[in-house]
Amino acid sequence: MKITEQYLYNPKNIDKNSNFAMWMAFPGTYSFSMSSLGYLWMYKTIDSQTDVNIERICLDTEKTRYNISEVKLFGFSFSFDTDFLTIFSMLEKYNLPLKAAEREKFPLIFAGGPVVTANPEPYKDFFDFFIIGDGEDINIQAVKICKENQGKPKKNILKLLSEIEGIYVPEFSKNVQKLTKKLDECIYTPILSENAFFKNTFIIEMARGCFNRCGFCLASYLNLPLRCTPYNELIQTIDFGLNHTNKIALLGAQISAHPQFHDVCKYIYDKIQNDEKIEMSLSSLRVDAVTPDVIKTLAAAGQKNSTLAIEAGSERLRKVINKNLSEEQIFNAVKIARENGLKGLKFYGMIGLPTETQEDLQAIIELAKKIKKENKGFDISFGFSSFVPKPHTPFQWCGRENTKSLENKSAFLKKELHKIGITCHVSSIKWDYWQAVLSRGDSSLSDFIVETYKLGGKLGSFKAAAKKYNINTDYFAYENLSYENELPWDFIQVQPGKEFLIKENQRLLTAT
Ligand code: SF4
Repeated sequence: MKITEQYLYNPKNIDKNSNFAMWMAFPGTYSFSMSSLGYLWMYKTIDSQTDVNIERICLDTEKTRYNISEVKLFGFSFSFDTDFLTIFSMLEKYNLPLKAAEREKFPLIFAGGPVVTANPEPYKDFFDFFIIGDGEDINIQAVKICKENQGKPKKNILKLLSEIEGIYVPEFSKNVQKLTKKLDECIYTPILSENAFFKNTFIIEMARGCFNRCGFCLASYLNLPLRCTPYNELIQTIDFGLNHTNKIALLGAQISAHPQFHDVCKYIYDKIQNDEKIEMSLSSLRVDAVTPDVIKTLAAAGQKNSTLAIEAGSERLRKVINKNLSEEQIFNAVKIARENGLKGLKFYGMIGLPTETQEDLQAIIELAKKIKKENKGFDISFGFSSFVPKPHTPFQWCGRENTKSLENKSAFLKKELHKIGITCHVSSIKWDYWQAVLSRGDSSLSDFIVETYKLGGKLGSFKAAAKKYNINTDYFAYENLSYENELPWDFIQVQPGKEFLIKENQRLLTAT
């Protein structure tokens, strides 16, 4: 494959005098790596601010500039629970033992990203250290320590790393503070690629976190408080990006929470009206942020459809999860979307949320029927995943509903929505189960994780590995945990803290 890349910063020339080489790895193919803002920004930060020779490595990388024997530091981005499968295959490709204790020689291997920030315990045997939280600044410190102390025993370097806030070294650390970065600079795609999954798309981070604090939402709770990129920075960065491509994407768990979200949309809309050919997409849109101006901008920027996350069909259940949307707001959003140029909407929801009953599912069908009836010719579809309890959220104690029952719910929704001519997709309930096991897992899962990988990483592999190591995976997925129990991830200090989460759990589960 011929790779075409365009650097939007001055990449450092290879320093021939430096003997410190580092790999920054993405556990997926090249095309996905080039659409991962976090991964690319991390690479750029280290490349432009340190005197190390850094190289990007992906699952399908064939040739590398450095040989593994020259690499002193090997970092992985870890964003999805099952990324360990790809990470292991990349370690084996370079003949590295999976467990840190078996790796006597360099490189030091570390991971960062939301999965290991929330709960690194299932993976603690595999990495020498973890970056907990926003890694932009701490990565540079970690790299410097490793470079300045190269030649010393691994243990000594790890001890030094463990003294830095935000770094978790399983061998030495006790409590670890999650890092929270101030968003005073605008983070954007530093390298455009023709071969990226989102080809030549300039992604701009508008906001990090979300103040809505839905009870299940890791993206919100792991990133409190909400931080917004200053408006002037955003505008300058948009202009900078548009000098290189006409495709831009605004990113954030809830970008409409940005106080100048509407001004940014207007800025782009005016450019399009002045004959600039801009294609723009948004990562997500809250129902209450759907206004005629926003939709007109999306439509003018080439977007035909958008996704609205309503999470649950009934107002009662939306209250329980802290997503306080009225039915009227939903109908109004659809009307605005239809009247201002979109061709369709996809609604996103979850099944198996705590306290959910058959009435809540029926409410989804009723809602869908009404939307369909009032919006003839407008393309409506639904997508669902099943609830997975996530650490550091108010629902971290809530066990997941059993697989059989969720599969029945999934079949019910598909059948009933199909009857009224609405397409419906539901994520794999069985995969979501394993996600829950890993999400609330602890270090006892270590051998099970390795075995799952060795057996091929398919659904059956998880089951067989659990059997071999006699792991009661139902405990991690289904059990309603008690407030008194110490949880595997309690040692990661994340604001607003456990006491707040307990109160919020009680408040939400009794909401009517
Ligand atoms: S609105 Fe979306 S991003 Fe914000 S807390 Fe709820 S689910 Fe998470």
